[in-house]
Amino acid sequence: MSRIVLASGNKAKLQEMRALLAAKRVELLSQDEFDVDAADETGLSFVENAIIKARHACRETGLAAIADDSGLEVDALEGAPGIYSARYAGCEGPGADEENNLKLLSELEQVPEDERSARFQCAIVLMRHADDPMPLVCQGTWEGSILFRPRGRNGFGYDPLFFVPGENCTSAELPPARKNLLSHRARAIGKLLSCWNYPH
Ligand code: IMP
Repeated sequence: MSRIVLASGNKAKLQEMRALLAAKRVELLSQDEFDVDAADETGLSFVENAIIKARHACRETGLAAIADDSGLEVDALEGAPGIYSARYAGCEGPGADEENNLKLLSELEQVPEDERSARFQCAIVLMRHADDPMPLVCQGTWEGSILFRPRGRNGFGYDPLFFVPGENCTSAELPPARKNLLSHRARAIGKLLSCWNYPH
């Protein structure tokens, strides 16, 4: 079984990603297991940041790496928080999700229900090694809208505010297995699996 490092220290993401990759004969390891620190996300797009993170993890571990970069795009905020989703309220680490959600609610305070459309975006990258000239890059999108108050306890990040019309609930109210079928990451990984030719 080949070992691949996930360029993230987020435990919820590792769990989600392992479930989504269950069909593949790969062992997905967190970069935390190798004491890899977080890469500086200096890109200006999800794709650039995913490549930066994957290359950093490859370089530090000598293994192939998968990285995703994801975030929330809100139409009424001209795409914000976008690539800054994780640090929207200016802090990172424990407590950041709650602060980010509070900031989002306050930015949208005057925005009516029918103008609160939003989507999660995900870019996912598979790099075979740090100098890989052709990383595999796939993209996934999940459409929804932003509620006026949080609902649900599953997931992470903006899940309690993200209403999924087809399911009539927030992504934090969805059972994790259902979210894993529908999410932006699931869609991006579905595409990755369909063009995955690694290892040969
Ligand atoms: P990343 O870890 O750099 O990709 O940052 C992603 C940020 O976007 C997270 O910290 C969350 O705030 C948000 N995000 C991405 N995917 C999700 C999701 O599935 N649910 C809720 N929030 C998400």
